Amino acid sequence: MTNLLEDRINQLKQRVNKMKENGKFFYLKTVENASESRVIIDGKEKIMFASYNYLGLIDHPRLKEAAMKALEKYGTGTSGVRLLSGTTKMHEELEAKIAEFKGAEAAITYTSGYVTNLATITSLYQRGDLIVMDKIDHASIIDGCILSGARHKTFLHNDMNSLERILVDSDDFVNKIVIVDGVYSMEGDVANLPEISRLAKKYNAKVMVDEAHSIGVLGKTGHGIEEHFGLKNAVDIHMGTLSKTIPSVGGYIAGDKDMIDYLRHNSRPFIFSAPLPPVTAAVAKAALEVIEDEPERIENLRKNMKKFRTGIRSMGYNIGESITAIVPLIVGNEEDTLELCKMVNDEGVFICPIIFPAVPKGTNRLRSHVLATHTDEDIEEALDIFERSGKKLGII
Ligand code: PMP
Repeated sequence: MTNLLEDRINQLKQRVNKMKENGKFFYLKTVENASESRVIIDGKEKIMFASYNYLGLIDHPRLKEAAMKALEKYGTGTSGVRLLSGTTKMHEELEAKIAEFKGAEAAITYTSGYVTNLATITSLYQRGDLIVMDKIDHASIIDGCILSGARHKTFLHNDMNSLERILVDSDDFVNKIVIVDGVYSMEGDVANLPEISRLAKKYNAKVMVDEAHSIGVLGKTGHGIEEHFGLKNAVDIHMGTLSKTIPSVGGYIAGDKDMIDYLRHNSRPFIFSAPLPPVTAAVAKAALEVIEDEPERIENLRKNMKKFRTGIRSMGYNIGESITAIVPLIVGNEEDTLELCKMVNDEGVFICPIIFPAVPKGTNRLRSHVLATHTDEDIEEALDIFERSGKKLGII
């Protein structure tokens, strides 16, 4: 092992050990029951504010029943890649459902959202192409761009002048695309899709949107960012995960049929790696059906988002531009962030700190996630804990 690597390992070890010694290591916590609105952690019940289970589908009977049926019918896995022997009817049904849900011609699935971004970007873009990204796009988009070999440029977060400054100078590139998150996972704000789409059309670029945090959250019926803005055909490549609102695992791309066919025969994680087990595909399909059949979940989420955001903002917390289920409590320095996190966790709210380098220095934060299944009492109790802790620490 080189000294440089030893140094890196030691630096990380010291940082983690310091947090652990001070009782301020909040990562890798074991959740002892279904990850619903109240969870058991370290033997204590806590109100869950750290989950992406936005619509509360994790424990839904229809999803469990779909899983059992698929298990009975297909067994536990596929023992083969999709192209050869690994495609089941369940995969086809899920992809047809995703395409219908997103109003697209076709869809393809991969084993995670992360892999989906890597697979798609590397397959569609290469040296000589241009990818334009928001500065705070998800790591899997950034990694896909790096791996693709395409030229990539970043614009300032959700800043349309900054985006246009790049596009106006992009005539040398024929194959170009703007890739953004629908909802930014550290901020809880929404990509300015109307402007992004207008600029992309003006400069002949395609648009890809990662809807990891917008499916089930944005739009009156939870169909995502185009529904939220009342737009059609603003997005060329719809990307999403099956691991958040849809409580399974995997990721998808929906779009036009020729592009999806191309991905089926060209993207390396599809060709050289085994697919979702049919059980997880069945759960994902059932989840999409439940989102459509139980609109009251989205209404509840919306009501809870408003109640929590209004409450937390009125206490004086800085929540940035959040308008979604992700509400960051931006504290600033790392010490206060970890101290606040310890206080609220000790009082009974499970929440995680997001610190540098996941966010820029000086913008360390707690990231809260509102769920459709939070009751009024859950939210009121959590608000009370955030208020008492924030005041005690002198940050509000
Ligand atoms: N995109 C975004 C915006 C995400 O937040 C995440 C997960 N944190 C992913 C992609 C990756 O999804 P998965 O966990 O399904 O790999």
